[in-house]
Amino acid sequence: MSRHRNVRGYNYDEDFEDDDMYGQSVEDDYCCISPATANQFIYSRQERQTPKEEPLEEEEYEEEDVPMSPTVSHNLDPLDQAKLYSCLDHMRTVLGDAVPDSVLTQAAIRCGFDPQRALDAVLSEDSKTRIRAELSPGRQIKGRINGQTDSCRFVVPKVARMTVSGKKQTMGFDVPSSGENGVVSAPVRRGGSPENVTPAPDSASKRPETPSKASNGDEMPAAPTPGRSSGKTRHAINVKAELEKRQGGKPLLNLVVIGHVDAGKSTLMGHLLYLLGNVNKRTMHKYEQESKKAGKASFAYAWVLDETGEERDRGVTMDVGMTKFETDSKVVTLMDAPGHKDFIPNMITGAAQADVAVLVVDASRGEFEAGFEAGGQTREHALLVRSLGVTQLAVAVNKMDQVNWQQERFQEIVSKLGHFLKQAGFKDSDVFYIPTSGLSGENLASRSSVSQLTSWFSGPSLVEQIDAFKAPQRSVDQPFRLCVSDVFKDQGSGFCVTGKIEAGFIQTGDKILAMPPNETCTVKGISLHDEALDWAAAGDHVSLTVTGMDIIKINVGCVFCDPREPIRVCSRFRARILLFNIEVPITQGFPVLLHYQTVSEPATIKKLISVLHKSSGEVLKKKPKCLTKGMNAVVEVQTQRPVSLELYKDYKELGRFMLRYVGSTIAAGVVTEVTSLQ
Ligand code: GDP
Repeated sequence: MSRHRNVRGYNYDEDFEDDDMYGQSVEDDYCCISPATANQFIYSRQERQTPKEEPLEEEEYEEEDVPMSPTVSHNLDPLDQAKLYSCLDHMRTVLGDAVPDSVLTQAAIRCGFDPQRALDAVLSEDSKTRIRAELSPGRQIKGRINGQTDSCRFVVPKVARMTVSGKKQTMGFDVPSSGENGVVSAPVRRGGSPENVTPAPDSASKRPETPSKASNGDEMPAAPTPGRSSGKTRHAINVKAELEKRQGGKPLLNLVVIGHVDAGKSTLMGHLLYLLGNVNKRTMHKYEQESKKAGKASFAYAWVLDETGEERDRGVTMDVGMTKFETDSKVVTLMDAPGHKDFIPNMITGAAQADVAVLVVDASRGEFEAGFEAGGQTREHALLVRSLGVTQLAVAVNKMDQVNWQQERFQEIVSKLGHFLKQAGFKDSDVFYIPTSGLSGENLASRSSVSQLTSWFSGPSLVEQIDAFKAPQRSVDQPFRLCVSDVFKDQGSGFCVTGKIEAGFIQTGDKILAMPPNETCTVKGISLHDEALDWAAAGDHVSLTVTGMDIIKINVGCVFCDPREPIRVCSRFRARILLFNIEVPITQGFPVLLHYQTVSEPATIKKLISVLHKSSGEVLKKKPKCLTKGMNAVVEVQTQRPVSLELYKDYKELGRFMLRYVGSTIAAGVVTEVTSLQ
């Protein structure tokens, strides 16, 4: 393996007032990922992204409590039904559920489905005083739709069902045309090439206002009222109070485990889960037997997390394994990220959803060095999680049994890593080092009793440290946002998506908007850690069962959002970027892979706008010809297909990204402006 060399010094601390912006503050030659390691990280998106789709089966939805069209009793032709549906939704956007659907329907029909006239008609009727009082500023109308669920139901669409065998569909949007505001322009096939994309007209800087479409083709206003259509009563809830009560008052912590391949991540976490009682003795015994039979006895604990056959065969973690455990004061969602260089994009997906991280390093002589210095993933992982917003880190100095629990070896690793982590933007006070052995279980769930270790280490065990992490603030007051990290079909109607709620909250029965493809669907079920819930809020890693949309339209990277305040969708945006240690200068048209949250999308640096001063942010040069390592610059990024994102100032998590080039991370950036697509 080539040595990790030629990493240059750069003080990013001085660059930005908001030191959390890129997660960088690197001063000297430990900072960056050397492009010399580029070939180490080559990753074929093509190979991994072909969705494994099984043939479509035509099936009808069962008659469950899917709401029916309000038009059924009016014998309207399909076009008029669509117009009525659209008109009603428009009216409800203004009126909420204050007026019965029958009144709205009559007004809509009387006024030729003109929402404005129909609204005027309803508001000028006798009830206007009451309605207007209810619509007074600051008052939001929520709750039960009306008492007429039988006559006021949606048409049940006949849809094709697809079995996706519980596996992830990777990127490849099927994006329907929607026209204005740069929302989405042309259909793009899965895995489509740039030629397939016609830039959408008009400005993308505005929120999309074009009507969204239901999967049955009906036009729907862009902002339908959530919670209308479940047929169930939707109670207004005080999310903050409910969050405090939930899980016995224990806050949730999303934790990602990172580190070089073979550092012992899966073994350590599998053993930890076993010690915490999350894996019973019988199952563990089964794993031991199976791994012995397969000639991989030392991987028994790793099998707790490495679930797929391929992972077991290869002995590496490929996907992001996810599970839950509890400490004294926290409920922890654990994500075991793949350490292998081929799977760094998967690791970014895991890290983007994490609040805190455990970095596992192998203490064995030569192995720590291989992971840290010789183009290993220790550096890149640490840099990535920091850039994606993780500030608190526990470092498990693992396989200490291999070095006889030597204090000197531990200190050597702490000092090398400490230096680097500080430069990568971690505060010393937020990084904690714990000597561990994933194999023997020392210092995992409880403090070690090995005298060679206790003679010099009296700090906390790994679980104690995780328990001591500060729980992050949840943005429950902002409009709902969830980035899809997985899509699969389950037994019932509809399909499931998983992802972390980045902002806001949802309740069962809510209508949510998927961007792309700019279509609404209804939340039928919410589950958190396999437990069915009526609501979930920012920070929760949930699985949603949704209906009213075709599974084929949803992909990893889509964002579900509040239809009243949809996320921006664009294919061109302006960003402030910080270049890592790149050897090839960036010129106009430079191809990159844009990574943020669960999105991974080919893009180009369309324009080089300016180079900024590291400390003051003042423009040093306009329209530079090229950008070189360490520069701080403003650029315009053009994505191959439309992506959903936000300005960094509005939503940190959805406005911060990484740029990669031939397998290396070359820059971190923040979205400053969504620009016109033309
Ligand atoms: P990962 O790729 O980081 O998930 O690493 P694994 O958990 O798959 O472990 C890689 C190898 O290291 C396996 O053979 C493990 O049995 C071994 N291993 C893991 N932890 C320890 C440890 O603490 N001590 C020793 N001696 N071996 C370990």
